[in-house]
Amino acid sequence: MSIEHREFRASVRKLAQTKIAPHAADVDDKERFPSESWAALCSNDLPGLAHPESLGGSGADLLSQVIAVEEVAASCASSALVMLVNWAGTSTVLSQGSNELKQLVVPGVASGSAGAAWCMTEPRVGSDLSAIATTAVQDGSDWILNGQKRFISNAPWADWYAVLAKTGDKSLGVFIVHKDDDGVSFGAPEKKMGMRGSPTADVVLDGCRLPAVRVVNDPYRGFRYISAELNVSRALIAAQALGIAQGAFDAAVSYTTNRDQFGQPISRFQLLRGMVADMAVKIESARSLLYDAVHLIQDGDPAARAKVAMAKLLCSDNAMSVATDALQLHGGYGYVRDYPVERMMRDAKITQIYEGTNQIQRLLIAKSVYGK
Ligand SMILES: Cc1cc2nc3c(=O)[nH]c(=O)nc-3n(C[C@H](O)[C@H](O)[C@H](O)COP(=O)(O)OP(=O)(O)OC[C@H]3O[C@@H](n4cnc5c(N)ncnc54)[C@H](O)[C@@H]3O)c2cc1C
Repeated sequence: MSIEHREFRASVRKLAQTKIAPHAADVDDKERFPSESWAALCSNDLPGLAHPESLGGSGADLLSQVIAVEEVAASCASSALVMLVNWAGTSTVLSQGSNELKQLVVPGVASGSAGAAWCMTEPRVGSDLSAIATTAVQDGSDWILNGQKRFISNAPWADWYAVLAKTGDKSLGVFIVHKDDDGVSFGAPEKKMGMRGSPTADVVLDGCRLPAVRVVNDPYRGFRYISAELNVSRALIAAQALGIAQGAFDAAVSYTTNRDQFGQPISRFQLLRGMVADMAVKIESARSLLYDAVHLIQDGDPAARAKVAMAKLLCSDNAMSVATDALQLHGGYGYVRDYPVERMMRDAKITQIYEGTNQIQRLLIAKSVYGK
């Protein structure tokens, strides 16, 4: 890792610890948007990390994006999710959209004045995207969308929604919907176990008419476009999981150093030291695999697909395990909301589920092993 990356990590960590962490418990408790941390991220130009300078972003490389997500997630996983979903929501516009569409969508999102979301899941469609039922039908040069998207992060806060919709028997397109478009409405906020500061709701499309400019490139190749972006979004979710694990680990090290039992700090007990050592190994091995995957993605190496699936799997499984052990190391205090580890344990769970469940990651990895 370069000196620039290390310095960047230190600056995001400082920002997260001073401006984001102090609000994380309240955001979780009240299930409210993390407005203080979003303001802090915006005033430090972080929402534009994934966007090119020509569109108002800072054009940072993927490793920098991963580092930013890790550091923000270590303090508040919900805030990290809001930021990275903005990047996912604009990813197909950036890679495949027309210049007109890019100009319409990206500068606002890069500055943080607008939000983005991406919409694949439906009430009856999760892991199997080929079964998507939302339709997009052409009418003259316009397209008309009908359907319902479920569990959409950043909804209804976001302005722009990248919607995957069926355009033929075996084809899908990506369509960019604005929250104020006619025919767009939102479901009630989901009441979640974790990530309670990240808004999640259904997006309902009822005869939503879009002009041709809102279609991402070829409306029959959307699945291909989304699949190409999944490597990056999975790396970012892996980074989020890794950040949660690091946050929980740091909290556990601090607590066990300061808590005395039997006349000495509990960090002196060998059983606990063994747990902490195992947690450290889980974090460092997950980080190494993730950075390896990031380098393959940055190099355009086809091996990236399986490697990032491994990284998403390991980072999220290890985050769940590390957060659970961090809670255990706090004893009864880990179980109450005065300490952050119970929130981190709840937040960690979803990283094993979204952006392709860990069962789906295992299928992808096995496919690369057998070649079919
Ligand atoms: C908080 C939250 C935020 C989310 N954000 C977004 C978002 O922004 N955009 C979006 O589009 N979606 C989002 N999702 C949806 C998420 O990506 C899906 O929940 C996830 O992909 C799994 O789909 P599903 O829930 O329908 O589960 P299902 O696909 O029904 O799976 C149920 C179980 O069956 C297993 N399973 C399914 N198929 C197989 C198989 N072939 N082999 C073995 N096991 C299998 C799964 O691993 C899982 O354990 C979000 C979900 C949540 C809870």
